[in-house]
Amino acid sequence: MNGRSALLAHQSACRACHVCVDDGIIPEATPTFEGRWGAPFFLVGQAPGPVERESRRPFSGRAGKELDRWMLRAGFESPEEFRRLTYIAALMRCFPGRNRAGSGDLKPPPAAVANCAHWLDAELRILKPRVLILVGQLAIARFLGPGRLEDRVGRRFGKGPVMVPLPHPSGQSRWLNDPANRQRLTIALTLVGQLRLTLAPASVSRSNSDGGPEQPHRARRAATNAIRRQT
Ligand code: SF4
Repeated sequence: MNGRSALLAHQSACRACHVCVDDGIIPEATPTFEGRWGAPFFLVGQAPGPVERESRRPFSGRAGKELDRWMLRAGFESPEEFRRLTYIAALMRCFPGRNRAGSGDLKPPPAAVANCAHWLDAELRILKPRVLILVGQLAIARFLGPGRLEDRVGRRFGKGPVMVPLPHPSGQSRWLNDPANRQRLTIALTLVGQLRLTLAPASVSRSNSDGGPEQPHRARRAATNAIRRQT
């Protein structure tokens, strides 16, 4: 079986998964992920929310709108281009439910994350992404171990794949209220933009020849400056 077929078989099996329902962790299984064979980027999030539970499309709610804005800042031509180049999955692929106060979503229970881990591991094996975009503390800790967001966001880690941590775009966290952290996010998005320029040059040159926005040039300059500041 080639890689593309292996991915399709994997996705089909994952969509039918209901082990967390069988274990009494959630009342309903709605495995949510999206992506295609050949995507050089792989975004790992925390868990889908109630909007994604209905749409079955990752980051289709308010946090997704913010993520789209971030990726435009990084230099992607459009949210569609970002999704074309990025496989999107989460540590827990089904909606974990709302908290008792109804003020937010539950964090993914460790048992569900453990149940779900093999789906993520298999996708990483099949796709061999060049870049992992780690969104939120849980996803960052899964790959880099525990640590402060301040020490992670704005830096890149590893080589194969390169890992770029981001805060969660849900707006529930106050982390981005601090200007220093907003600057860290800007640097992180610049790093993502630089990797996009390296991994998807055809798409960039198409944008330029179409008379499209000058964003890629700006991203390249900003990326160079950010890397200089890091070294
Ligand atoms: S969270 Fe993951 S392991 Fe649990 S039912 Fe959904 S897809 Fe399956």
